Amino acid sequence: STSICKPKDNSVANDTSPVATTLTAVPKLPSLPTYSPLQERVQRPASYDWHQSGGIVCIAVYTRWQHVTTRHCTVAIVNNVLSVDIIIQDQSYRLALELAKKVVSDNFKVSMGSGRSGKLTIELRKVEEAVRWSNIGRTLPGNDTTQLLDDRERVYHRCHLVGKESLTRDILLLTLRCPPHLYLPVPTGYHNYLRIPDSILCKPYTAVPASLDVHAFTTQQAAAAPGNLLHYLIKVYEDGAMSSALDELSVCEEEGLTADAEEDSSLVEVTLAEGEHVNSLISGGCDPPVTDVALLAAGTGITPMLSVMLDAIADNRRVLLLFFNKTEEDIPWRVELDALSAKHPPLLQVQHVLSAASAAWRGKTGRVTLQLLDELLPVADGHKNVSLAVCGPRGFTDTALKLFDELSYVGEEYHAFVG
Ligand SMILES: Cc1cc2nc3c(=O)[nH]c(=O)nc-3n(C[C@H](O)[C@H](O)[C@H](O)COP(=O)(O)OP(=O)(O)OC[C@H]3O[C@@H](n4cnc5c(N)ncnc54)[C@H](O)[C@@H]3O)c2cc1C
Repeated sequence: STSICKPKDNSVANDTSPVATTLTAVPKLPSLPTYSPLQERVQRPASYDWHQSGGIVCIAVYTRWQHVTTRHCTVAIVNNVLSVDIIIQDQSYRLALELAKKVVSDNFKVSMGSGRSGKLTIELRKVEEAVRWSNIGRTLPGNDTTQLLDDRERVYHRCHLVGKESLTRDILLLTLRCPPHLYLPVPTGYHNYLRIPDSILCKPYTAVPASLDVHAFTTQQAAAAPGNLLHYLIKVYEDGAMSSALDELSVCEEEGLTADAEEDSSLVEVTLAEGEHVNSLISGGCDPPVTDVALLAAGTGITPMLSVMLDAIADNRRVLLLFFNKTEEDIPWRVELDALSAKHPPLLQVQHVLSAASAAWRGKTGRVTLQLLDELLPVADGHKNVSLAVCGPRGFTDTALKLFDELSYVGEEYHAFVG
């Protein structure tokens, strides 16, 4: 298997997390439709140009990758230096420009070209609106270069914890706000490292959508601005070093903080997104296209599945979510999940499976078994192309993968996030 979450320092080198690190890479069978992202490898390098119109400077980036969205593009403006990092599959394309003249650092926009052109536009506001620029500025080292995501230096940005909500007895929804000069999104299938400032405590977490709303999720991708919010579902372990430290952070309610204060106990440091492109494996990009997506999640293994699910519904794929928890009370976002499936009845089916259900529970019970999967999972035929994904504690994932094999799903039809 291929590591998608290679530790880059000692604080994470011994991570034995219960959730997701690797994506199984299964040998390709020549006679079957391929689901490998490598088949879509971008052939030509990305490039950029710029133009101006009145008080606006537009930088257009041609990634030549059909899956790129604004959620793949991080933008920061500090001391009039523009830094742009765009995830293109397993690589990062970078712009580093000391801009020719002053721009408003907290008022820029990132937008996508129409269709799947692979074009992104970053719109900057001139401070002196009437002044024409003769050039874009000075290129800095690393400008207009591409490197493997795994090789990219891990840089931390200070964000504020602005929301903390208990979803279940041990799962929190944490909301972070990026500083006003930074747009830092996380695309589907990727995660970022969170670090407690001035400590070695640092672990990966998977950002989740703000809400389970397909329209809001997809329109948020169309245009994006700095100071964005990041949301995480965190399972708090009593003896868990990082999750308890996150639980102990204070929520900041003041507006306009700069994220510089050393003493601020609402600060969390966040890396740019890391990981691997999984979207095309699940919601499209292969031929023939996937029609049915089945997602198996246990506990906080739901985190990568939520964006996948919204993307797949937006792409008109049928989605079956099998969500394994102990009791009804342990199901995070249960009401929201059930409301989403009620809103998209032909497309989304949510099936809860409880291992310690109360006597009143009328739904599925037990653990992940051959009988359960045989009964519920979609089967590929002339009209259906099926894709499966699994995420949860190691034992859960291993069992599910074994059962996929027993049910004759082939390696390219499924993948696993394993820790
Ligand atoms: C790519 C990736 C994405 C992740 N996304 C999320 C996320 O969105 N939300 C989230 O809550 N977590 C996520 N995790 C897990 C997270 O990184 C931490 O591992 C987790 O929060 C525990 O860290 P801790 O320091 O609090 O606990 P630790 O101090 O490491 O241990 C906490 C507790 O977990 C137990 N434990 C340790 N390893 C395992 C294991 N393999 N199985 C079962 N129990 C174990 C320990 O006994 C202890 O009780 C993700 C992990 C990866 C690799």
